[in-house]
Amino acid sequence: MAVWKCAECGNVVEARCKPGKCQACGAAKDRLIKDESAGKKKA
Ligand SMILES: [Zn+2]
Repeated sequence: MAVWKCAECGNVVEARCKPGKCQACGAAKDRLIKDESAGKKKA
């Protein structure tokens, strides 16, 4: 499961595939950035 963060509103969405758009503000999918740090445990 990947985590996508909206660059427009900061909304975070968990989804296997990139969402078509931000569910919070409706920003286009190119505004959604994959959050690589999510799901990894910090040392
Ligand atoms: Zn958004």
